[in-house]
Amino acid sequence: MTIALGARLISCRKLLAELSNYLDDELDPDLRRELQVHLRACPDCWVLFDTTRRTIIILRGNEPYPMPEDVKQRLTEAIHRKMARFRPQA
Ligand SMILES: [Zn+2]
Repeated sequence: MTIALGARLISCRKLLAELSNYLDDELDPDLRRELQVHLRACPDCWVLFDTTRRTIIILRGNEPYPMPEDVKQRLTEAIHRKMARFRPQA
């Protein structure tokens, strides 16, 4: 499949805002598809998505152990890095 760069891609900010809805399967099909296209084209968001998804799988699976600290830390750092980019320059 070819990703046409410059095609109508949703922004990283939008993806981040919809990520939990996407993982909860609560998006309408069009938006869902746009998120999927973005994830294929944007490694940053893919890492964030993949980490979040794994975390949710661990939590929902009622694993007998808590979320590993390193996973929790990586997720927090990834979100902070991501959010920092959207912060307007002071
Ligand atoms: Zn992105």
